[in-house]
Amino acid sequence: RGKPTGKRIAVIGGGPAGLTASVYASRYRLKHLVFSAEPGGQLNEIHEIENYPGFVSISGFDLAQKMIEQVRNLGAEIKMESIIDIKKMNGDFRVAASENKYTAKNILLTIGTEYRKMNIPGEEKFKGKGVSYCATCDAAFFRGKIVSVIGGANSAAMAALLLAEYASKVYLIYRKEKLRCDPAFKEKIDASDKITVIYRTNILEIKGKDFVEKVILDNPYKDKTYLDLQGVFIEIGSEPRDEIIKNLGVETDEQGFIKVNPDQSTNVPGVYAAGDVTTGSDKVRQIITAAAEGAVAAGSVYKKLQTS
Ligand code: NDP
Repeated sequence: RGKPTGKRIAVIGGGPAGLTASVYASRYRLKHLVFSAEPGGQLNEIHEIENYPGFVSISGFDLAQKMIEQVRNLGAEIKMESIIDIKKMNGDFRVAASENKYTAKNILLTIGTEYRKMNIPGEEKFKGKGVSYCATCDAAFFRGKIVSVIGGANSAAMAALLLAEYASKVYLIYRKEKLRCDPAFKEKIDASDKITVIYRTNILEIKGKDFVEKVILDNPYKDKTYLDLQGVFIEIGSEPRDEIIKNLGVETDEQGFIKVNPDQSTNVPGVYAAGDVTTGSDKVRQIITAAAEGAVAAGSVYKKLQTS
């Protein structure tokens, strides 16, 4: 049984999309709750942001704190509960969270994505013992050590640049022949004397005793099929978590991202989605596009109420 909250929207997720949706919903005087076990979401893990307007440079954690403060100042509540299930019953959505059950007229999914795994031998075994998915969280543990970053887009570039501030050597290992990160990152990588990019190469296995000691390459580098190192940062993109999406019957693309209309509605009436989990904003997936999609979604619920 859901607690009758009379809420117009249950915002599922507290990253930039969910928090911005809350700011707009508050100003539209739409009763709502934000559910987030970890308010700020992946924003908390970004070391430095230089492309969010209004801030020349700010850490992800600080930007998240500002957004959370704004949400709370406007009177909205953030429930630090994780969501177990959402069901539609008698025209309402029943939200089963870790501590309580709730009801809402509309659902806004801003659940973000999770790190893609490589699924190679050693990856799971050495997680936290040299294998990391978060350079911002773990870079400082690799002071003076040799590390590798796997991937060839913006996250990998960002991780390599941050790690170069701590490690003695950073190998950026990419499966193709040309990095596809933003030129601003590429220029910094080229200028770094600590970063070496190894192209056309995958890692096949991560080896060691108690901690990472080497990676096995599928293409020899300087005549060797392995690299001796202590850290492996896996930065190969992210994928949506799919249980909630599937249970709600929300339509996705082949990679699992939620298909949204220009007003951020989905194929399920009353279910909206915003942020990294959607195919919206031309799949640009930046903080600013997540925030914008959150604003549009809140506006769409407001408009729907005006006309219904
Ligand atoms: P992306 O999906 O953009 O890129 C993933 C990278 O990992 C690609 O280079 C891909 O290779 C590689 N890859 C994928 N799977 C494997 C695998 N199994 N083995 C080896 N390599 C693999 O993810 P990102 O996390 O880099 O970025 C996600 C989004 O966040 C993007 O929209 C990005 O622009 C944005 N972002 C923006 C930043 C900014 O400051 N502007 C910073 C960080 C992220 P291939 O190229 O061959 O497909």
